[in-house]
Parts: sequence; C-alpha cells; structure tokens
Amino acid sequence: MAMLDREAALFLHTYKRLPLEIVRGEGVHLIARDGTRYLDMVAGIAVNALGYGHPRVVKAIEEQARAYIHLSNYFVQEPQLRLAELLTAASGYPKIFFANSGTEVVEGAMKIARRWGQQHGKETLLAATNAFHGRTLGALSLMDRPKYREGFGPFLDSCGTFEFNDPSSLRSAVTSSTAALLVEFIQGEGGIRPVSREFAGTLAELKAHHRFLLIADEIQSGLGRTGKFFAFQHYDVQPDIVLMAKPIGGGLPLGAILTTADAGEVLAPGMHGTTFGGNPVACAAGAAVVEEILQRDLTNHAEQIGAYFLSSLRSLAKEFPRAASEVRGSGLMLGMELNGEGDSVVAAMRARNVLINCTDQTVLRFVPPLVIGRSHVDETCAALRDCLKERT
Ligand code: PLP
Repeated sequence: MAMLDREAALFLHTYKRLPLEIVRGEGVHLIARDGTRYLDMVAGIAVNALGYGHPRVVKAIEEQARAYIHLSNYFVQEPQLRLAELLTAASGYPKIFFANSGTEVVEGAMKIARRWGQQHGKETLLAATNAFHGRTLGALSLMDRPKYREGFGPFLDSCGTFEFNDPSSLRSAVTSSTAALLVEFIQGEGGIRPVSREFAGTLAELKAHHRFLLIADEIQSGLGRTGKFFAFQHYDVQPDIVLMAKPIGGGLPLGAILTTADAGEVLAPGMHGTTFGGNPVACAAGAAVVEEILQRDLTNHAEQIGAYFLSSLRSLAKEFPRAASEVRGSGLMLGMELNGEGDSVVAAMRARNVLINCTDQTVLRFVPPLVIGRSHVDETCAALRDCLKERT
C-alpha cells in the first residue's frame, strides 16, 4: 500500500499531506522515491537552516548518541550547557530554559508572565490579531483566528488581542494591568507580515510607560533568518523574553526561552519543567547549527541573498500585476501576496521540482535553508515566472 493510503487509514486527519514520498534529503534538495530531485524552499517550515545531511550536524548527533541519548533534567548536561552558552552570548540574554517545541516555549513564557504579573500587580496577557503562536490551549488563548480556535474553548482568562500594526488599537488594549505582550515581529503563518516602524515605536513607548514584559516570538524568524539574529533587531525595541524553536535543534525537537535576568528570576525550582526539554542529542545538533551559522556568518548571507531574492520576486510581481500584488519580508523569510488562492501555484511549482508553500491562503511563502545561493533563487524565480504566466 502506498504511504499516503497507509497514512489515511491510520492517522488522525490533522494534516493535509503532500502527494510526495520523500526518501532522502541532500543539501537544499529533497529526493522522492521515483528519483525526482526537488529544490526545497520551505526547509521543513523554517527548520532546516543548514539544509539536509550537513556533516557537522550529523557528526554531532552521532557522537552525542554514542555518549548518551537522554538523561533527566536532574543532571547538568554538557550539550545543554554548550548550546546555552552559544545562544546567550549571541543574543545578549543571560538566562535560558529549554523545551521541545514552539508552542511549549509560548506556554512557558505565559507562565513566566503570569508570575511576574502577580509580583507586579498585573495579570492580562495580550497578543496581536492574525498571529500564530502554536496549538496548545495557552497559545490559542492569545490568538484570534477562528480557523485555529473554533470548537476548542473555553480559553484562559485575562487573555486578549490588539489589532496587528494598529497603534491606536494597541494604545487602547494596554493598561496598567497588562502583564505581557507577545509579538511576532514578522508574522509567519499569518502571511509574512512585518511589524510597521510606527507600530514598533508605539510598542516601545507603551512599554516604557506601562512596564509590561515584551515577549518576542522568534520561533520562525529567529537565528539569522531575517538578516538579523532576531527579527525584532530590525526595530528600536528591546523584548524581555525571546522565544526560539524550529531551527535551533538542527531538525530535532527543541525550543528555548531566553530572558533578561529580571524576567527569569520569577521561576524557582519545581515551578516549571519538562522530561525531554533540552534533550542532549537535540542540543548537540543545535550547537553545531548555531556554531555554523555564526562562523559562516549565515545571518549576513541571509540578508544578502534575501535582498536579491526579494528584488527578483518584486520584479515578477511587477511583470504579473494581475497575479501578484505585493512582496513582503526580510532576509530569507519572504512572502508573495497573490490575487487569489495560492495552492494551485504551489502545486504548479512542485510540478517544476521546486517546493514552496502557501500560508494565509493567498501568500506564497519562501523560508529556504539559509545556505541557498543565487542559482537556487534564480531557479525558483524562473519556475515561478512560468506559473504566474500561466495564471494570467
Ligand atoms: N510561533 C510561531 C511564530 C510559529 O511559526 C510556530 C510554528 O509554526 C509556533 C509558534 C509553534 O511552534 P510548534 O509548531 O513547534 O509548536
């Protein structure tokens, strides 16, 4: 029985799977059972920053698996320490907590915010409309879109939203009882939408006035993808807590909460924890990824190649104004807004051996490995040109 049939028979139907049977990854390519090589411009949705089979990552995993695959968090563990030292040094945040996934670090940050809030007479947690922070009930309590929330209530109390990129909505939402604000500085699932300069300015002003914790969700945008180590660094604003996941485990499940000394202090032993968080193999892989990104300055590479990609996509949007209306994003986190649904373009690209994906129904998303070169951008844009031409 083909893989898709086996899946349909066995699994809860939560995913729309692609009609592909991938057997191997090599660099920036995925290879299907029939031998077709696909250029992967999705990278496991911004996970595989170094592509597939990177020797440094594979070696780190092999060596750590031989030493030990799991110890409980009763033990201090060298791979955790190494990754913690790398991430705190690179980010400037002195404290870290490791979890297993994006939604789990969102939960952890919400717990920190609640405790910090209790100590400061504040309670409410706020986030932007159109955001995506994960699938657990805590994360859903801070999201407004019915497609994620419908049928899963009731949600947590004292959680609310403000209009994304609307300074006046933010002004009326924030009060003296606001404990924390959670923000993606470039919304990913919501359609590659960057925070506007004006909105970031209002955020900084309100933070100085009301003293709430600002939590940056850098789960999709972090670790150099946008041309800065974090997307918030494109703005003049300083979060208290930064959330990372996706790329930091080199493809293994890992998330991290980075905090200022002040914000991190609210948790004492026993208040928060996880069995697998900071798994040593994931941390060893993560340390290899972070070292490679820092040593090769892939953040700068993402900025350079991203600028080239952005201008190539903008030229296409200009050439086909009836098909595409806007190109947004930064570094290698880019989106093209189509005038209509995007799934058919994704399928047409796949037929040309290029994998991209569509988010928010009408936005083509490009979040490739950070190691792509100009030839990969050119190949993608040539295929996209054919697809947009077909559409007009
Ligand atoms: N936050 C952002 C910005 C994300 O893009 C995602 C996943 O796409 C999450 C949170 C949730 O991460 P995970 O799927 O690892 O729970």
